[in-house]
Amino acid sequence: MEISTSQKILNELLISYKISRTELEKKLNITPSTLSYTIKKIKDLIEIYKEPSLGQGRPKQYLSLNKDYWISLGVKVGRDYVNITKLNGRFEILERYTFKLSKKNIGNENLSKFLNDAFEKISEKENIKAVGMAFSGEVVEQKINSKILKLENFSPEKIVKTHFKNSVHSILNDVEAIATEEYIKYKGEDILVINYGTGIGACYYGNGELKNNKNRKIIEIGHFFAGGHEKCYCGSTGCLETLASDYAVLKKFKFNNLKIVDFIENEENFENDLKEVRTLYKTFKKRAEDIYEDTFNYLTIFISTIFRILEPKKVILTGEGVTPWFSQMLQKKIINSNKIPIPIIFRGLENNIELGASINALQKYIMTKIE
Ligand SMILES: [Zn+2]
Repeated sequence: MEISTSQKILNELLISYKISRTELEKKLNITPSTLSYTIKKIKDLIEIYKEPSLGQGRPKQYLSLNKDYWISLGVKVGRDYVNITKLNGRFEILERYTFKLSKKNIGNENLSKFLNDAFEKISEKENIKAVGMAFSGEVVEQKINSKILKLENFSPEKIVKTHFKNSVHSILNDVEAIATEEYIKYKGEDILVINYGTGIGACYYGNGELKNNKNRKIIEIGHFFAGGHEKCYCGSTGCLETLASDYAVLKKFKFNNLKIVDFIENEENFENDLKEVRTLYKTFKKRAEDIYEDTFNYLTIFISTIFRILEPKKVILTGEGVTPWFSQMLQKKIINSNKIPIPIIFRGLENNIELGASINALQKYIMTKIE
């Protein structure tokens, strides 16, 4: 499938937010007349405005997405909450909802009903062009499998289609959504996102071809073999998550006999203990350093290895289990053990998964609905 100039321009605007005509011509390697011709074709989808340039030059013409046209919905389905955010073409928040998810709402059937009720609340549904949904779980061909949410080949397609008739929708994994948001933040630089918490995930987002999302790759490091004999909830034995995740930390901290399978099943009962161990460094620094030592060692091995293979420009550290102290300790370890510099950026919980999911769905809209 050939990508048209209109598609290229719109995708560039999605990544860059605003861009001048001259920059766009250079970036896409097109002539001013091709640009003018294409702009006419997509004039309702974009905004064009002049801004004075620095110095003595003429005012420059800039392009952005039309904020009233590109209305999207970002949905995050986690174990505890479902968050829904409606955004305009400038990614300003138009509506935002948070729904508490409990044990009785998980599983294919219960979650369908839950999402259906949640979508009822959204206003002006007919204006929504794209619905992006991010799940904690594995996504294969737009279907979700998740032990944590008890989903098997789950597809929310029917519910989305019932509520948002004019929309394109896309499903992705939550780490992919974070990577998508970061990729836009860094204007298309190659990045590696590490998501650390009760699970450990990674996603590489490279500046390759736009087609088929081949430039984005989920790396299930949480379930790479790391040693030991513990059976993991994924079916394998000795997964990194059994040795280095928040679960492993919690086990060392308080629950010697805890099994990862039981922990995943009853995660909500450990909420307070998790909070306690994640902030232990504030009061008992030495103890925290001891408890987390293995975690930092394992993460150093895996992050350094992936970095050397994929050579991203930046490594972004995010997730519920990452505190400023955690990030500092891990950075120190990684820097001291590698002679090549590995740039690590701490994000904590700043990431907006709904925004990443929205962007992903809008990209799909551009690639499937625009000629
Ligand atoms: Zn596993």
